[in-house]
Amino acid sequence: MTTIQNVAVIGSGTMGNGIAHTFAQFGFKVSLIDISQDALDLGLNTIGKNLERQVAKGTLTEQEKLATLSNITTFTDMKAGVANVDLVVEAATENIDLKLKIFKDLDSFTTDQTILATNTSSISITKIASVTSKADKVIGMHFMNPVPIMKLVEVIRGYATSDEVASLTMELSKKLGKIPTEVNDYPGFVANRILMPMINEAIYSLYESVAGVEEIDTVMKLGMAHPMGPLQLADFIGLDVCLSILNVLHEGFGNPKYAPCPLLVNMVTAGYKGMKTGEGFYKYTAGSKELEVSSKFKM
Ligand code: NAD
Repeated sequence: MTTIQNVAVIGSGTMGNGIAHTFAQFGFKVSLIDISQDALDLGLNTIGKNLERQVAKGTLTEQEKLATLSNITTFTDMKAGVANVDLVVEAATENIDLKLKIFKDLDSFTTDQTILATNTSSISITKIASVTSKADKVIGMHFMNPVPIMKLVEVIRGYATSDEVASLTMELSKKLGKIPTEVNDYPGFVANRILMPMINEAIYSLYESVAGVEEIDTVMKLGMAHPMGPLQLADFIGLDVCLSILNVLHEGFGNPKYAPCPLLVNMVTAGYKGMKTGEGFYKYTAGSKELEVSSKFKM
């Protein structure tokens, strides 16, 4: 069975930097790949800040922090970044055409033994695998946000994923201190098939003036014991990511119940993508811990 030592992570955004951080913290050598040095610097900066937080909390020593950082090398050239790795975890933007292009390239840039995992939230693993010549080596490895903290990895088998690759991915997730759960390949898998309709319904409740942002989130936090309300969670995930996942569910099942709320579509089109752009349902001011409702939704 393949032994995983060297890992490439494609995309250094919200998820990619967390995935790189986690592998590096557990001693893997990580090539972090993005399309620009600016994106990589932003990712490395986030990893540095998150490691600092772990040191301040006493869950990591200063030496472990430095060792983690020294395990990460950055690349803007994907071919160079994936040379000699045992595993690739793709965490680029949730867009099917982009992912198909990346996997086609990965097929020619990696050896027959390299495992190709994707962190997609909803796109068919079977479809992604179909553009490669080694569908048995392609698997979904769906980490949760924030990656260094959240325990779950949803492991998704494509139609042709081999048993060996599935069990290796399960074992690898455990080595990262995670709890993997294996599911089959249908739109949104399990996590987002259940989560996104709830978020969409929360947005519909706002759109139809059933209640305000804070009221909707308060009902779900206090009434259902959710740690974060669905609108705050949507901001945290990224409203563009939520919209992409709803579109995949809508097209994949052909069921109008998954149609994204027009308010969500408008917000993403206007660039209000949540925490990562500074505003979504809430407004995010650097350095402030106060949760302030966006002026668009103030009652
Ligand atoms: P993001 O927008 O924060 O980051 C995406 C990154 O990919 C950007 O830095 C972008 O520059 C980079 N990228 C785009 N094209 C690239 C290419 N060709 N090569 C290398 N890098 C490229 O997105 P995200 O939230 O980190 O989502 C990444 C993936 O993780 C998506 O598939 C998403 O569905 C999935 N996911 C997201 C969450 C979440 O909470 N945001 C949770 C689980 C899974």
